[in-house]
Amino acid sequence: MPIDATQPYDDSNIFARILRGELPCKKVYEDEHALAFHDINPQAPLHILVIPRGAYVSWDDFSERASAEEIAGFVRAVGEVARDQGLVAPGYRLLANVGLDSHQEIAHLHVHIFAGQPLGPMLV
Ligand code: IMP
Repeated sequence: MPIDATQPYDDSNIFARILRGELPCKKVYEDEHALAFHDINPQAPLHILVIPRGAYVSWDDFSERASAEEIAGFVRAVGEVARDQGLVAPGYRLLANVGLDSHQEIAHLHVHIFAGQPLGPMLV
């Protein structure tokens, strides 16, 4: 079910539980600002999610409330994950869904990294 990105943060969401170590993940990267792991239902040969450690519902919430240090750390972590995975030369796609019309399902900000094959143009 898509979520309303204007709702207050609820720390029972799946990614909050992964951050607390209550649920497992296939981790590929972590630092003080971010955690990255494989998507459980990959939509490309490589599909990684990068999430901030802070409690933010969406990109909108993050860009409004996060500190400059958190924002810089998270953006840098997304780039670091892509470089670690060797994706810069072949290329990759970033996506962050926000709210109902985007079909955001998990109410903790996550950036999708899609890679591993030519992805073609965006259709929507
Ligand atoms: P959204 O539609 O942008 O919110 O994407 C949520 C993503 O989280 C989907 O691609 C799901 O496959 C993924 N997902 C849901 N639960 C888990 C999990 O427990 N581990 C890893 N990925 C998950």
